[in-house]
Amino acid sequence: MAVLAITAASALIIRKAAAPKPPEFTTGHSGTRMVMGTFANITAVAEDEKTIAESIEAAYKQLVAVDEMMSDYKEDSELSVVNREAYERPVQVSEPLFDVLQTSVAYSKLSGGAFDVTIGPVVQLWRSIDKKGTRPTDEEMAAARARVGYEKLILDDEKRTVRFAEPGMLLDLGAIAKGYGIDRAIEAMQAAGAAGGLVDVGGDIRCFGISPKMTRVWRIGLDNPDGSGDIPMVLNLSDTAIATSGDYRRFVMLDDQRYSHIIDPAAGSSANGLTSVTIIASRAVEADALATAVSVLGQKKGLELVESVGNTEAVIIPGGSGLEFIKTSGADAFID
Ligand code: AMP
Ligand code: MG
Repeated sequence: MAVLAITAASALIIRKAAAPKPPEFTTGHSGTRMVMGTFANITAVAEDEKTIAESIEAAYKQLVAVDEMMSDYKEDSELSVVNREAYERPVQVSEPLFDVLQTSVAYSKLSGGAFDVTIGPVVQLWRSIDKKGTRPTDEEMAAARARVGYEKLILDDEKRTVRFAEPGMLLDLGAIAKGYGIDRAIEAMQAAGAAGGLVDVGGDIRCFGISPKMTRVWRIGLDNPDGSGDIPMVLNLSDTAIATSGDYRRFVMLDDQRYSHIIDPAAGSSANGLTSVTIIASRAVEADALATAVSVLGQKKGLELVESVGNTEAVIIPGGSGLEFIKTSGADAFID
């Protein structure tokens, strides 16, 4: 008996000695960089500095590539070519752009048209307020609104072409391209060998794997919309994305009134309602599209929409005096 016991114990020691040492990770940061008209911060966790540097550069490269393809501010972007030519002829586009357009149409259907990438003509009109300082006339607004409608966007998946059913249509991917870019950046970091990472573009974020604290949890603070720099809520995220939309982020001032940069396609005008809408979802593209859709739909319909989508939660700050949070049923699981 005694001998047997000793044998078992030595076997254990030998097995222990042969077990590989757990890897040690270090963390690197990109520093703040500009892309998509905002700030990007990338964090990578890996076993060595080379992998960290390569992961960060691979992620940033994806963000730049998506921006170059999908920006409506850049005249030579693929999106701008579509906007100029898709009424005249079906324009064949790259797989990423086609993918985003298909995803966009799916979110338009899901949100009953609250999210609509054909919103371009109305967005352009409201952007011109900034330059002219006057409100568009009712005629101008009606004309722009008449050119909006995702059902007028013709996508041919076999030929991968895009066509506009009416003249004057314009695509605007401002509500979804950031999320798409973040997802591509995360995939690039994983392919480059990072054990963990986080990509933050203007406060829209996705994280994966090991965090700098060597756990699987990334702690993400939610900004107070009052601009005070306070963090009124902390979320614990693992392999998850968040995106925030809302009035407080970007707006146009006219005659002392604030106009949100988010448009209600049904009304053809600025969707002034919720101060901040944060969506938690597995992919950043979903979080981004839904955050915009909920901003348009408002609290009640917006919450209903998010509750109807699996694995997705919302934290809404309606605005007004005081800081109130309205949450979907599963959001508390992410809140610190
Ligand atoms: P986000 O910050 O993600 O909510 O995106 C807002 C941007 O999306 C705006 O600056 C517009 O370029 C565009 N946009 C505005 N309203 C809508 C809408 N209803 N559906 C889709 N995109 C929109
Ligand atoms: Mg969005």
